Amino acid sequence: PALLFVKTSRGKEEGRRFYACSACRDRKDCNFFQWEDEKVSEARLAAREEYNRNHQPTFTHKQNVERYKKFVLLPLSKRRFCHECQQLLLPSEWEKHSNHQFLCDISTAQLKSPSQFLYPLENKKTNAQYLFADRSCQFLLNLLIDLGFRRVLSVGTPRLHEMIQSKSSQEEDFRVRSLLLDIDFRYSQFYTEDEFCHYNMFNHHFFGGEAARETCRKFLYEDNGERVIMVTDPPFGGLVEALASSFKKLMAMWKETGKEGQGNKEMPMFWIFPYFFESRILDFFPSFSMMDYQVDYDNHALYKHGKTGRRQSPVRIFTNLTPSMIVLPVEEGYRFCTICERYVSSGNQHCEICNSCTSKDGRRWKHCVLCKKCVKPSWCHCNNCNCCALPNHSCEKTDSGCFVCGKAGHKRSACPTLSRT
Ligand code: SAH
Ligand code: ZN
Ligand code: ZN
Ligand code: ZN
Ligand code: ZN
Repeated sequence: PALLFVKTSRGKEEGRRFYACSACRDRKDCNFFQWEDEKVSEARLAAREEYNRNHQPTFTHKQNVERYKKFVLLPLSKRRFCHECQQLLLPSEWEKHSNHQFLCDISTAQLKSPSQFLYPLENKKTNAQYLFADRSCQFLLNLLIDLGFRRVLSVGTPRLHEMIQSKSSQEEDFRVRSLLLDIDFRYSQFYTEDEFCHYNMFNHHFFGGEAARETCRKFLYEDNGERVIMVTDPPFGGLVEALASSFKKLMAMWKETGKEGQGNKEMPMFWIFPYFFESRILDFFPSFSMMDYQVDYDNHALYKHGKTGRRQSPVRIFTNLTPSMIVLPVEEGYRFCTICERYVSSGNQHCEICNSCTSKDGRRWKHCVLCKKCVKPSWCHCNNCNCCALPNHSCEKTDSGCFVCGKAGHKRSACPTLSRT
């Protein structure tokens, strides 16, 4: 299944609609394209099906589960993983991969943490995988446990999932369970069909069909008081609109499985995303608020916690839980603001005029009386533009208006003519 897009040109109100791949935004990775009103010939349909048949993964999830069972019975010396093919190998297959590089002697502990040896997919447009730094992952898990959750729907958070999986296999009294939904099919080698579903979060598609959907539904059903939370960390280039629509469908699934008494409640959720998407996320989820906690990553040059002290990460947690319940680590400099009733960054000063802790990026922001709001410390008020901006900005830029409709006052992402599709 694809996603319906609209092609617009500057100044034109009506765009032409077409289907394209929802997962790959780079036409080089997937060139599927079809006008909404296009008639597709039988021959082309057949060719497409043929292409799809030829591009299936080597093994199905079921086959991978069987292979895993055999794999764990092997002695350490026979446990190999092929780097080139990103695949666990059974001894009979070694020869086929003889000129590939292997990872050898894979321990059971290693098998429980596949994200440590699968290489992160790095295609910028399609599937950039940024893995949580251990500190952030541990923080998230402890937070969930302290909040009383016993089940985690991990949507695009393989590292959180594996931390939960490996703890529950090691610690007797660890009672948290996780279901991973992710588009990265390599994970099907390590998890059963009750632990991992191949899923596209841009169009809520379960590749495993009705059975996989049912697995998810069952997981969301809150048996004997085990509360569920969804945690998601989508690729930052992802379309907020498409993501929000999928997450609403997952929320609806949770609601359907619920007993009466859930009333108007929403499925608790953590959506991890950069702070500059705040207004976009709030457009779709008005009940959400943004936490000050800075989520750190292992393999992101910009967002990782450097050796020489803390670099600022722009990534935050958006949640529909009551902000005061989200306790942030005081030892990392977060403090509780009693007026805002939430934890904030150490640099985030409470502004008397806005009556709120206004910083979004952790630095101390300053209040501009003309703009009637707090702005970044590096900004100055510009009388030309009538708002605050960087001192060296070029004034013309701001009145060039929206790319889609040509009107001033908003950018293309907020264009009202687009919201119809
Ligand atoms: N910080 C997380 C990983 C986030 S990276 C962690 O450490 O666990 C984004 C994740 O979303 C990756 O696991 C990637 O495989 C997954 N992903 C990317 N596109 C997706 C899509 N269309 N549907 C589902 N998952 C997707
Ligand atoms: Zn190989
Ligand atoms: Zn405050
Ligand atoms: Zn202010
Ligand atoms: Zn100003």
